[in-house]
Amino acid sequence: MAPLETRPEASDSVRVLNRVFGYGSFRGDQQEIIEHVCAGGDALVLMPTGGGKSLCYQIPALVREGVGVVVSPLIALMQDQVDALRALGVRAGFLNSTQGPDERREVESAFLSGELDLLYLAPERLRVPSTLRLLDRGTIALFAIDEAHCVAQWGHDFRPDYLALSELHERWPAVPRIALTATATEATHAEIATRLDLTEARHFVSSFDRPNIQYRIAPKNDPRRQLLDLIRTEHPGDAGIVYCLSRRSVEQTAEFLVAQGITALPYHAGLDARTRAANQARFLREDGLIVVATIAFGMGIDKPDVRFVAHLDLPKSVEGYYQETGRAGRDGLPSTAWLAYGLADVVQQRKMIDDSDGDLAHRRRLSAHLDAMLALCETVECRRVQLLAYFGQRGEPCGNCDTCLTAPETWDGTIAAQKVLSTVFRLDRERHQRFGAGQIIDILLGKQTAKVSQFDHDELTVFGVGTELRDSEWRGVIRQLLAQGLLAVEGAYQTLALTDASGDVLRSKRQVMLRRDPERPAKAAKTSRSARAAAVDLHPGAVPVFEELRAWRAAAAKEQGVPAYVIFHDATLRQIAATAPSSLAELGTVSGVGENKLARYGQQILDTLAATTSST
Ligand code: ADP
Ligand code: ZN
Repeated sequence: MAPLETRPEASDSVRVLNRVFGYGSFRGDQQEIIEHVCAGGDALVLMPTGGGKSLCYQIPALVREGVGVVVSPLIALMQDQVDALRALGVRAGFLNSTQGPDERREVESAFLSGELDLLYLAPERLRVPSTLRLLDRGTIALFAIDEAHCVAQWGHDFRPDYLALSELHERWPAVPRIALTATATEATHAEIATRLDLTEARHFVSSFDRPNIQYRIAPKNDPRRQLLDLIRTEHPGDAGIVYCLSRRSVEQTAEFLVAQGITALPYHAGLDARTRAANQARFLREDGLIVVATIAFGMGIDKPDVRFVAHLDLPKSVEGYYQETGRAGRDGLPSTAWLAYGLADVVQQRKMIDDSDGDLAHRRRLSAHLDAMLALCETVECRRVQLLAYFGQRGEPCGNCDTCLTAPETWDGTIAAQKVLSTVFRLDRERHQRFGAGQIIDILLGKQTAKVSQFDHDELTVFGVGTELRDSEWRGVIRQLLAQGLLAVEGAYQTLALTDASGDVLRSKRQVMLRRDPERPAKAAKTSRSARAAAVDLHPGAVPVFEELRAWRAAAAKEQGVPAYVIFHDATLRQIAATAPSSLAELGTVSGVGENKLARYGQQILDTLAATTSST
């Protein structure tokens, strides 16, 4: 569509919000950030995924003179981002390696002639002298550095190209810079500020809470079945992401789901680029698809209606976990973050750290990340409080995580711990043998297995002293001892060994409190009231209307070759279905219906509404 007729003044950021984006008011710190950048200030913005970071640079780019240059590592998503902006009537383009020379020239000339509001750039483009010369010849409204944590080596997504971004300031000292990230431990935060030379920038740290996401961490016993249960009982027909650690388990899990009649696509770095791109595009474009992926998938996926994120393996850090789970529920509607976690995860991750390349400092860092993740898994307190604490923020017990919904029991596991540790001790000291968890448990339970007979383990004084707990319970004890650092995993055979801290437990100088794993995995917990309030509850009569609107949207999206959410979000369609506006003016008041979309789709929406109400 035509550009905004008149370039609005800085004070007009609210008007841009209403007219272009169709939103009624700013969220959280948005307005303050936008006004600060509009006035030429630098900003470092820490906001959780789904918090609304994009508006923080998009609106200043529209308000200020010149083009907003957005640096983003998400090359595969630039087309969608640009499409979404164009659907709003914003003049956007991108420059990256996926383009042919003609397309690139077109974007460059639009940039130079002032016909762009926003230009997306891959960071490596900024190393190319011709790009720098191009930027010199145009007027730049601001630099936005998206996914700014990519500059941090301490983090989990380091991109060497980001280091060059510190030079932006030297070359264009008068252009405001805004760096944005959803990763926000103190360490990463500080590193971003120094590496991007943003020491003068104002820092905006939002609450990292995502109240609409229900966090749940379940003991892993039959992960694929558990996943299937989650999908069938709580998320039938919903879009979701399932994370697995290895390519093999990605493939197997996707195959398993498909065999169960669920549409699931694999995604990992071992697939060829075309298959990966195709699977990602289907996930974005179609409703209700599941992607089973390694963590290679997901950064920048701003599909708003991902209803669940499931982890079948333990993430390596809380930062990674929070970022991955944050991909659920960007539209603010109730969503689930579910993780299955067991003894084998701890053993495997500890071993991976032992085997990893890199110096001692590097391994220590990995260990520290893992320990924080384990602490989250084993906590008996509110998961959300613990997550927020990890990001240096305070929270109240949330009522919308598994531990809040069903308070886990704790028990004094000192004696159980002593039994495990002394079995390990005896094998090691008396016999110079080391074994994995399975053999230790068989000894404690007094099982006469072949392996027990082979090593005469029935002659140990600890043989059969642990019949008060079942096999699965002993696994829970060992898992928690590993998590608490009271037991270690060593060597190629992943055998158990004592640690420096074990002695205090054996000598009864230290009490060991353990979490009692629920008998059965916690069932579909009810969503808390605050999370539900975010959704527009549809009265039964509005449900078919909503479905019709979705069908209309799917057809429109297909015709234009854009993801459905680029047309309208679920939340917008729900509100339309619930309020059944009867005129364009009324439709224009719905959140998410800006001027451009009203002009383009308004009549079609009203027609769809008229057709469904007359047919029912
Ligand atoms: P982030 O980049 O922080 O993950 P986005 O910028 O993608 O988040 O915003 C998340 C969602 O919230 C988007 O669907 C966006 O359109 C919506 N949104 C952002 N700001 C507002 C607002 N002020 N009012 C209503 N919806 C908003
Ligand atoms: Zn809670």
